[in-house]
Amino acid sequence: MRNVLFASDLHLSPARPDKIELFFTLLGRCRRHVEAVYLLGDLVEFWLGDDDEDPVHRRLTSALQNLVTSGVTVSVTTGNRDFLMGPQFRKDTGVQLLEDYAVINLHGTPTLLTHGDLLCLKDVQYQQFRQTVREPARQQQFLALSIAERRKIATSTRTDTQKSMLDKDDFIMDVDEPEVLRVMAAHRVARLIHGHTHRAAVHHVTVSDQSGERVVLGDWYTDDQVYWATPTGNRLIPAAILANELA
Ligand code: MN
Repeated sequence: MRNVLFASDLHLSPARPDKIELFFTLLGRCRRHVEAVYLLGDLVEFWLGDDDEDPVHRRLTSALQNLVTSGVTVSVTTGNRDFLMGPQFRKDTGVQLLEDYAVINLHGTPTLLTHGDLLCLKDVQYQQFRQTVREPARQQQFLALSIAERRKIATSTRTDTQKSMLDKDDFIMDVDEPEVLRVMAAHRVARLIHGHTHRAAVHHVTVSDQSGERVVLGDWYTDDQVYWATPTGNRLIPAAILANELA
């Protein structure tokens, strides 16, 4: 058994209880069938800090901890909704927090993992916003506020970077193709897996004259497609169908 699961953009929220149940069912079934799980960002709608006592976040933390305890390697890349996942979350769960770009060996193929927002270079405003909200001093300032104050700021509909700490991404631009090829070549990989754009698909790409692929994970608002990698083949598959297969 060397099965590996990739998922992203769950945006877990009490507004979609069916997706919360589906995700925890899938994680529970992973225990017996999966060697590693990679969660590539935006697991929740807003991660306001590791000290947030939100029930969905507590449940997520404990489910990940159970998975790690049962021997599954769990790695998390943070997204634009949950980049404030920090040391306490890592300690509570035992997951590995990945850098913005991480290369893994997936059944012999060097594979680059990222959330995906960094690839959307055409959204100049977002890239500036991203840089601003990730300044350590600004994060410390934000985390020093009460949870209620943080929530108010995060859910503000205003787009001003001063007022919104966690991006609302109402409209998400697609990735910039030249940037995709650049990061794949720079990391010497034949495969890239990311989420963020909510445009699930497997794209064929040519990197340095070599054939490769870009896998885009689905968002759990609608099609909840995850990437299921086994020694005999990989595929995008709706989470509910995979959960049934693993039952
Ligand atoms: Mn995102």
